[in-house]
Amino acid sequence: MASKHPETLALHAGWRRDPATTAVAVPIYQTTSFLFDDADHAADLFGLRKLGNIYTRIMNPTSDALEQRIAALEGGVAAVAFASGQAASAIAVQNLARAGDNIVSSTDLYGGTYNLFAHTFRDMGIETRFVDPADPEAFERATDSRTRAYYAETLPNPKLRVFPIAEVAAIGRRHNIPLIMDNTAAPLLVRPFDHGAAIVVYSLTKYLGGHGTSIGGMIVDGGNFDWDADPERQPALNTPDPSYHGAIWAQAAKPMGPIAYILKARVTLLRDLGPAISPFNSFLILQGVETLALRMRAHCENTLAVAKFLGGRADVTKVIHPSTATGRDAELVAKYMPRGQGGLCGMELAGGAVAGKKFIDSLKMLYHVANIGDARSLAIHPASTTHSQLLEEEQLSTGASPGYVRLSIGIEHIDDIIADIEQALDAAKG
Ligand code: PLP
Repeated sequence: MASKHPETLALHAGWRRDPATTAVAVPIYQTTSFLFDDADHAADLFGLRKLGNIYTRIMNPTSDALEQRIAALEGGVAAVAFASGQAASAIAVQNLARAGDNIVSSTDLYGGTYNLFAHTFRDMGIETRFVDPADPEAFERATDSRTRAYYAETLPNPKLRVFPIAEVAAIGRRHNIPLIMDNTAAPLLVRPFDHGAAIVVYSLTKYLGGHGTSIGGMIVDGGNFDWDADPERQPALNTPDPSYHGAIWAQAAKPMGPIAYILKARVTLLRDLGPAISPFNSFLILQGVETLALRMRAHCENTLAVAKFLGGRADVTKVIHPSTATGRDAELVAKYMPRGQGGLCGMELAGGAVAGKKFIDSLKMLYHVANIGDARSLAIHPASTTHSQLLEEEQLSTGASPGYVRLSIGIEHIDDIIADIEQALDAAKG
């Protein structure tokens, strides 16, 4: 697909027609296995001398169309889909870091990713060094000889502070350390590879699927990182892999293109750990991707309008949206998000936790759910739900103050969205 335009790629990249039936829509290849031509063909596929379908845990034609489409949208070289965003985040790191290694991560993370890094990875022997993204140099200070990757989110909630992608990617490249960006909250709006990131991960569950039907995840390889520039820095890709007769991935993948990282993720960790996406979910997410450009435009416009409306309310003490950023944060918004500032918005209510809960209970149209990125508008009060296990000072430091309400603004008519928020705010004032 020659186009560079996301509107076109979202409909055409990675697929023209079904080779077997000429079907235009990507069929759901709901099969576990694929028939080999003969014994030599099977041996070539298993030995990676030929690429082709073997078994749906490792690859599937429906998922392949989704992978190619998102790789094209992102400006990457290849991608692998997973059963969830969590699986994608976990494997993105495990593909590089082993027991005894560490990664440096931004503190501003989705709670599930924080738990994965702080607890589950720690139990596996992988240490995460959390640093404040307001100071990009902190990534360098936390780096040592066992640091394998940097990790951050483009537009993390609840704070909605845009991450300094180019600044941290450049520090990483000086040490041959790749920056992995979770771009879940900003597909099409930000392309982390354009700013030097090496790997992008997504929860497809959010904007890419867009309709709240399917859980899925994706890792995209930018193909822009020199994995064998410093073999001691990246041993996972530069030491023989006994599960492939001693293949050294940084070398073995070269004839196939700059895909060492993503090839290894597919043929070792997806093979061994098994978090494969269902072809049915890939199909549903593909339907969402086709209208992603239209939806992101509507999400951005509606959310900006909501932020402006909230700014005029006396009972809202603070509006958290990229448009309200000041100083250095505002510079980052201008640099990274000129195409739109996303579909998330937070507000702090003067009435604190009581008003936050009352607001949620008074909503008539917005859904009270723990998701973001749905075509429908959603709301949650983190202090009484997602962040309820934290101490009050921890809630404050993560940005989830007692009166904070997170809004994920959908694509309904803006008048209806604002009318529902307005009546719930009035009810919350008592
Ligand atoms: N990354 C971000 C930014 C998220 O918001 C989420 C889920 O909320 C995830 C990753 C995890 O994705 P999933 O729920 O698809 O496992």
